[in-house]
Amino acid sequence: ALGGLLVTLTCMSIIALILSLARHYTVDLPYVTQYGIVFDAGSSHTSLYLYKWPGGKQNNTGIVSQQLMCEADGGGIASYVENPPEAGRSLVKCLDVAMAAVPSGQQSTTPLYLGATAGMRLLSLQNPDQSDQILAEVTKTIRGYPFDFRGALILSGTEEGAYGWITINYLLEGLIKYTFEGQWVHPKTGRILGALDMGGASTQISFTPQEPVRDPASAKDLQLYGYKYQVYTHSYLCYGQDQAVKQLQVYLFKTTGSPSIVRHPCYPLGYNLTMTLGELFNSPCVEKPANFDSATSVTFSGASESQSCLDLMENIVNVTDCPYTPDCGFNGAYQPPVYGTFFAFSAYFYTFDFLGLAPQSPLPKVISTIDAFCNRTWESLRAEYPDVREQYLRDYCFAAHYIMTVLLRGYKFNDTWDQIYFYRTVADTDIGWTLGYMLNLTNMIPAERPLVVTGVQH
Ligand code: AMP
Repeated sequence: ALGGLLVTLTCMSIIALILSLARHYTVDLPYVTQYGIVFDAGSSHTSLYLYKWPGGKQNNTGIVSQQLMCEADGGGIASYVENPPEAGRSLVKCLDVAMAAVPSGQQSTTPLYLGATAGMRLLSLQNPDQSDQILAEVTKTIRGYPFDFRGALILSGTEEGAYGWITINYLLEGLIKYTFEGQWVHPKTGRILGALDMGGASTQISFTPQEPVRDPASAKDLQLYGYKYQVYTHSYLCYGQDQAVKQLQVYLFKTTGSPSIVRHPCYPLGYNLTMTLGELFNSPCVEKPANFDSATSVTFSGASESQSCLDLMENIVNVTDCPYTPDCGFNGAYQPPVYGTFFAFSAYFYTFDFLGLAPQSPLPKVISTIDAFCNRTWESLRAEYPDVREQYLRDYCFAAHYIMTVLLRGYKFNDTWDQIYFYRTVADTDIGWTLGYMLNLTNMIPAERPLVVTGVQH
């Protein structure tokens, strides 16, 4: 009985001690990691991004990071028009990867989004029933998993541009920063970054210009952490890298009188690319001839002519007809003068990284490197880069001249070239629209400035 009394007294004193301590201190509970998933259903392929952050801290800036990225097998979901259920099945591998990474107790509270971009935008223009069917199939597959699925939809070009802008400014703390002294500060305007995104089917430019945006269709008004931003954003549909490749092929085919062999200055000498006319004209980005036999073949025969390749770019990037002069991008689009530092990612980065020009190189070096590369034969390229995928190696010359034309003549970075940095990731997180999209849809960037809630003692 005495032992029991002692145990009871000891327990009571421990409880009393805990209660007295609790009156004096707030106790920090360990944060449970939370997760969020976004599928980027791009035109050429689909990727899954798994993000994580310490629960309870989600309103702090710079706290969300990428845990993993998974590349789905096969092409973009829009390529499954003949077999829509296969679009759903193409996601299974990455969904299983996410299942293995998110603890089972948290899967049902992990939000999952699927956003499709310009490949599906084009398909929905061409055949809305087919694009709806593909979205229904990917939805069906994702619903077979326990995640908190919040929908599969096609992003507009403006959304794609604006979310890319949010992503880089969030990752680089361009929006708000928590200082060592415990203050939330708004970085100087020069710290706000512009975003340059080159996909397969569309390309986006987004930045906060010095002057108000004159065209409401290109303005995105955001309020983030208590500050207002007016972001100029424009998406050029059909001007992503793969559609630009196609536009030039069609231009060369048509202007040379539709022969069966077409000389291609941007492809390496010794390289031949054969396709059917059905494949050549399989996009709403190019005008089909009145009569053509889709089974007939055409061969593009490389010529390794750097200067001619560059000269051809003005046929697909039109910089002359613009009603907003001098506030113009290309193809008659309104664009205020570029302002501030820019991050160029996705296909901008792939090409510049391959050529050894990332994250930044002086303009004369960039031009001479591209020129030297474009004059090389297929034999010499293959010998030096045996492991690089054939399509990428073939397209790097085109891509490099196309990128330079868009940046210098289209967006007019002539005097501000050194303001562009080519990156794929920041803080181990891929740069793209997906993070900004998730932060926005899960309300993780509050409109008002966060409260300071650290170190409170009673
Ligand atoms: P997407 O992100 O699917 O819209 O693709 C963007 C563009 O980048 C497409 O033209 C792809 O062919 C190209 N691309 C993707 N990965 C690479 C890579 N590792 N090297 C070169 N080009 C790439």
